[in-house]
Amino acid sequence: MCCCCSEYTSAAPLPFPDSSKPPVAVIDAVTLEDAEEWIKKYKVTSGEGSSAPTPGLEKEIALVQHMAGINVTGQLDFETKKLFVIPRCGNTGEEKELSFSGEARKRRRKRDFTDEYIAWACKMLNDIIIKQYSNSLPEDAQARLIARTISVWRKRIPGVERCRKRRSINVEQRREIEIIFARPNSSYQYPFEGKGGTFGEVIFSNDSKIEVYFDDSEPFTTNTSSGMNLDWVALHELGHTLGLKHSNVRYSVMYPWYQGYFSNLELSPSDIEQLQALFGRPSTTSRPSAKTEAPATTEVTTSKASAVFITDTTPAVTTVAEKEVTTLKVTEKPSSSPLVGDICNVHKFDSFMMSTDGRTYVFSGDYFWVLSASLNVEGGPIKITNKWKELETPIDSAYTNPDGRIVFFKGSIYWRYYGSILEEGPGDISQIGLPSSLRDLDAAFIWGGNKKTYFFKGNIYWRYNEFNKAVDKNYPKSIIAWGLPHNMDSVITWNGNERTYFFKDDKYWRLDDGWLELERGYPRRITPVWMKCGTRLP
Ligand SMILES: [Zn+2]
Repeated sequence: MCCCCSEYTSAAPLPFPDSSKPPVAVIDAVTLEDAEEWIKKYKVTSGEGSSAPTPGLEKEIALVQHMAGINVTGQLDFETKKLFVIPRCGNTGEEKELSFSGEARKRRRKRDFTDEYIAWACKMLNDIIIKQYSNSLPEDAQARLIARTISVWRKRIPGVERCRKRRSINVEQRREIEIIFARPNSSYQYPFEGKGGTFGEVIFSNDSKIEVYFDDSEPFTTNTSSGMNLDWVALHELGHTLGLKHSNVRYSVMYPWYQGYFSNLELSPSDIEQLQALFGRPSTTSRPSAKTEAPATTEVTTSKASAVFITDTTPAVTTVAEKEVTTLKVTEKPSSSPLVGDICNVHKFDSFMMSTDGRTYVFSGDYFWVLSASLNVEGGPIKITNKWKELETPIDSAYTNPDGRIVFFKGSIYWRYYGSILEEGPGDISQIGLPSSLRDLDAAFIWGGNKKTYFFKGNIYWRYNEFNKAVDKNYPKSIIAWGLPHNMDSVITWNGNERTYFFKDDKYWRLDDGWLELERGYPRRITPVWMKCGTRLP
């Protein structure tokens, strides 16, 4: 179904097919009165203490021209008239200084990036939820789009690895940034003026909550120059949540006016400069550039250090420093069973599970192993029932839920543990809202892209709402579009790099969470990479 066609056939026509390119007649029709109204609305004032716009509006128009990076003439010429009809962001000068506390700014000046400061950045990147979806696009498409947007910013923020380490600590503090597509007669409204005008606004309501509003009257689209490209708009507004202000550099993401559709959207040098002013520059020595996955486009020429970023490594080449990993908490004695003695000899795994401390638990048959955050085998093989006494092995699947509880599945039975303490179960999966068709499920995991829980079985998957204890509407869906093998053994989003991995038999695939595509060069063999078994790579 074409999600956006209704916009074009509805009674109310679009202001213009491409929101960044108003028709000449519309531009020509802009009057001084229109300009004055606009100037009041967006609180453009020419200097301190300036009151109402002057009769000629020259100073104010000049200021708007400066904000837009065009010739400053004070005259209402054609290029200037455009500024009063192209939709723009609702954050005016008022957003200045709001996004970062004075305390954080002081630290920034000292270039002292404390944990507290990094924690703030982590919140920006990890704790974003869509509270009310747009009517213009399918929900899944929106979730993917926001995930992509986050990854565009994430790629450019140094210290993001510290962010990941902290995330497990802050599990209970999620849901701080709320994305809301506001429209009349809905749970979340905002006084936008309908199509055109303001497309969105970020409200910093207090220290712990940020609301990102989008005007859902806008004809939001993706992958097309028609309507208003939500990728650009979302990238812009999330820039505000990170503390960025408007830029008068044309074609920067933080330019206040809607810029139109870009097939390969990336931050501009001006955006990166702003970002680095807040978060610091990446160290040129801490990370090897050889492993760099360079941004797809727009390589930066003005920011020397930016090309050194890496946003991702495969488990085999991870460079995430994990020196802080201390002693293994698992105290069970390794089994002496010759059948399971060496994880490198295991060719089929029942489940991979990310624990809240960044470790990966690997289950096969009656045993499990523990991998450190840097993928060293820390423990195992350990009999599963030594730690989780009530379980029946082998298990079908295990995952860590948003409350940090481990949920195991076998057949139609589930168990829920807090650490190794049984909290709930064994019970039938219907008690937690799962259909009986999910009996003998293949895999369960929380996708990093939207923090939702997914269950896989055969060639279909379900999305599950942990809070309502129900499968989401319109599920299950087919995994065919993902190009994945059927009957997977396990899926995880690995904390080390936020990529999602699919496991089947002795092989694994990697998904780009941003683009929801399987990456090239896969499948690979599991044990040489995940367990560092000293065999040659295939
Ligand atoms: Zn803005």
